[in-house]
Amino acid sequence: MTDQGKDLSELRRHTFGNSVDRYVLKKLVQKIFKKCRCRKIRGRESHATDENSEPKTSASRICPGHERALDIHKTVHDLDVREEGISTLMCYLELHPYEWVENLQPVYATCKLQCYGGPAQLQAVAKKCPPVAVAIAKQKMEGETFSYRSSVEFDIIELSDSMGWDSGPVKRELRLLQWNLQPGGASKTGVMVEFSDLTFHFRSPGDLTEDEMDGVIDFLHHRVVKQEKTELFQLDLLHSSLKSAAHRNYWMCCDEANMAKSDKLRGFIEDYFENDKSVEMRMSEAEENSLEDSTSRDLGQLVLDIRQFINLYGHEHSLNGRVIARVFHGIASPCFPSLTWGRVRRFWRCHLGVDFNSILKIATKELIGLR
Ligand SMILES: [Zn+2]
Repeated sequence: MTDQGKDLSELRRHTFGNSVDRYVLKKLVQKIFKKCRCRKIRGRESHATDENSEPKTSASRICPGHERALDIHKTVHDLDVREEGISTLMCYLELHPYEWVENLQPVYATCKLQCYGGPAQLQAVAKKCPPVAVAIAKQKMEGETFSYRSSVEFDIIELSDSMGWDSGPVKRELRLLQWNLQPGGASKTGVMVEFSDLTFHFRSPGDLTEDEMDGVIDFLHHRVVKQEKTELFQLDLLHSSLKSAAHRNYWMCCDEANMAKSDKLRGFIEDYFENDKSVEMRMSEAEENSLEDSTSRDLGQLVLDIRQFINLYGHEHSLNGRVIARVFHGIASPCFPSLTWGRVRRFWRCHLGVDFNSILKIATKELIGLR
């Protein structure tokens, strides 16, 4: 470990790579709790008492919850948050006392059914397999025509949910369409069924009020901020502890163990693992210090760099404060991968020494000023 703390900034990057802005959380929450019609269908009589009451646990809601799937690739790029980051947020929601979601195994949600026997075979399959009939009927309502088509593609999770079924048995039934099962053995029917597009898979209600949605967003935001602060604090604590117990050079510690330093380090480690309260207390102190620290540094150059960055890339890319702070710290994200942005030597990791959240704030201000 060098005492200039260079590796400290390297490690901090991992933490900032996982942080998420509030408006991104809002987008995610809207996807997870997409509005359903249960309240309209089942809740008419209890509607009046319902609006103003306290948030509900899953057991006391009008909506029984829906099986849902979000395309992983698409969601990651929509939100510019890594897959693990989204999974973590989903876990926070599951662990909440109200159990907002129930996470299920990721599944392939797009079903493509192709009939080598042509349109007539597709019609015949629809007649004996209700999910296929429903999928075709829905697409007809949206203006598709099926007279000359021998294939159909649909979201199996959404379809099953709209029929009030679990997707598992529906998938099994669809797979069976590929085979003629006879006493002598199985033969192919000429129907091909393929599943693709891996998704986050979960159950969640769709009848949350606006207040409840805000509550969920606040809850997630609080968790994310707390997580970031805790990680940074622990990292700093670890760094300063090791530094205080370390020798300046390796040749100074060859022959004998230095018991005083060893005891000091042990004290730090015990404190780190056992004393949660003191961690929380010192966390707020450390936070104040870090802000003071970064305001006194060469912020003039930072502002110039931010403006230049916005000038150069603001037209082609949707920028926000976090994107700029990440590039300036050399932190990759799904929409700003290091393979591309790491080559922009002028900006990549150019302000590692400035506090990440200070860059975020200043860049956000600059962007708002331009609008
Ligand atoms: Zn519902």
